[in-house]
Amino acid sequence: MCGIVGFTGNKQAAPVLLDGLSKLEYRGYDSAGIAVRNGDKEPEIIKEKGKLKVLAEMTDYGRAVEGCCGIGHTRWATHGEPSAVNAHPHASDDLNVIAVHNGIIENYQELREKLMKHGYTFKSQTDTEVAVKLIDYYYKKYAPLPIEAIARSMVRIRGSYALCVMFKDYPGEIYCARKDSPMIIGIADGESYVASDVPAILKYTRSVYYIGNMEIAKLEKGAVTFYNIDSEVIEKPVTEIKWDAESAEKGGYEHFMLKEIHEQPKVIRDTINSVVTEGVVHFDSINLTDGEMQAIEQVYIVACGSAYHVGVAVQYVIEELTSLQVRVELASEFRYRKMTLNKKSLVIVISQSGETADTLAALREAKEQGIKTLGIVNVVGSSIAREADNVFYTLAGPEISVATTKAYSCQLVAGYLLALQFAKARNEITDEKYEALLQEIYSIPEKVERILEDKERLQWFSAKLINVSDSFFIGRGIDYAIGMEGSLKLKEISYIHSEAYAAGELKHGPISLIENGTIVIAVVTQTALTEKTVSNMVEVKSRGAKLMAVTTAGNYFLEDTAEFTCYVPKIEPMFAGSLSVIPLQLLSYYVSIGKGFDVDKPRNLAKSVTVE
Ligand code: GLU
Repeated sequence: MCGIVGFTGNKQAAPVLLDGLSKLEYRGYDSAGIAVRNGDKEPEIIKEKGKLKVLAEMTDYGRAVEGCCGIGHTRWATHGEPSAVNAHPHASDDLNVIAVHNGIIENYQELREKLMKHGYTFKSQTDTEVAVKLIDYYYKKYAPLPIEAIARSMVRIRGSYALCVMFKDYPGEIYCARKDSPMIIGIADGESYVASDVPAILKYTRSVYYIGNMEIAKLEKGAVTFYNIDSEVIEKPVTEIKWDAESAEKGGYEHFMLKEIHEQPKVIRDTINSVVTEGVVHFDSINLTDGEMQAIEQVYIVACGSAYHVGVAVQYVIEELTSLQVRVELASEFRYRKMTLNKKSLVIVISQSGETADTLAALREAKEQGIKTLGIVNVVGSSIAREADNVFYTLAGPEISVATTKAYSCQLVAGYLLALQFAKARNEITDEKYEALLQEIYSIPEKVERILEDKERLQWFSAKLINVSDSFFIGRGIDYAIGMEGSLKLKEISYIHSEAYAAGELKHGPISLIENGTIVIAVVTQTALTEKTVSNMVEVKSRGAKLMAVTTAGNYFLEDTAEFTCYVPKIEPMFAGSLSVIPLQLLSYYVSIGKGFDVDKPRNLAKSVTVE
């Protein structure tokens, strides 16, 4: 889950490593380190606990470290507490092998014991140090060939890894290996880069190679060679990245999260336009034919976190528009369940990064059972994008803030378009209704813009939440799905305990927690369910709750019940989630900054969860 950067070329490596890591800090940030080589001289390894800034200041932003070849890491600890000793890079005692690692070596205990029998000792508690010393062991045991040593280690290691390795005997070279953890390689004139994600190197190059699972790469200045696990050379195409470096920067906003909230109208529009031309949805780029959509009987939507909440909302939309059976599953549960999947089903996996470990495993499980898969992903060339049978790319662009906003909104719209197209392909909707619904989807970006223009009131209301310790989000149907997302947003960046409940469930337990001043936020956009939710609001109000409502313009009567009412423009209720989520994102943002937290990098969290 960490961030990795490597560089070899003719300029100083350390500033490049630190700059690249700063773009990846959203991936993990409990400690950081770099190792830099200056020709044949002994490499310098500098690592420290804390955020990257600590390391940057120690090294004068890299200027104090000499050498043109190096590797760097920001850590999100899985094995061993965050500390300087456990920070990466790790090295063999004689500095023969130095490496950084993202992932988990599952059989590290067994490998550690084997290595101890051969005289190895261990300084850290990490699984990574075991991998480093295993490579060193094979390097010394057999002919001193880096590719051989790495390939032999890969055969022995179980788990996931993106590894960047430097060998003492090979100055100016970096070796990389990958299994189930993200890693990309960039090439420019006389320079080579490796990183966990594209934003780290966008400033320097847009020519990128995707290293596959169980593959190895050798980086020299301006050149890269790929190998399979049998150490045979393999060819790979280069991809030109279209994202501009600008969009990965803050662009005048104080925080990435606020910038990304404001980018939503544009990226939602881009995502719609990527599949809709002249009033018709075309799924040619997704490769899903009407015939295939007709043959499907069951849809499973599998995801984690906010993407799971997208699944819950989209489930209601598919059910509303079609006769399809839909189930939404948490990827971490789905992958270990003994479910007999309907062979005529479609498994839709949703992941911003396309690298979410549990979601990727669920996708593989579905494929193993011979089920058709569709990935809704944001990162081009990511593992899910490569392995799913069909891919619907959201065009959110790079999302840096750990708490998702714009990627979530794009996933939601992708889900609507899928639902609509399913209905059309299966003749379950009239042409008029199809056109009318598509117009409603088209109206989303402009309506989101209007909500964003009126954000000051929310900022004012957010002040009331600064000192609360508990909150509840309630709603029915799609409003419940949006409440789940609002609740997650609030807890992840403002550290306020928060729970989302289907409003009808309150009486079955949680209402006992309501007391004078408890914050309850109700989402009320589903016309058919409004009265029912209002009854539940009155119930909690009678027990002392302080109520906020997010509702559709026109529902002024809610002011009688709620202390603060936030209105979103009128829209077909099926798509109202795209609007009602925006005030909830803003609210969480303002509460977090009001409390003085690092809103883009909340504690204990990382952006792409590439470990189980
Ligand atoms: N498992 C390794 C550790 O705990 C790497 C974690 C990461 O991906 O940051 O150090």
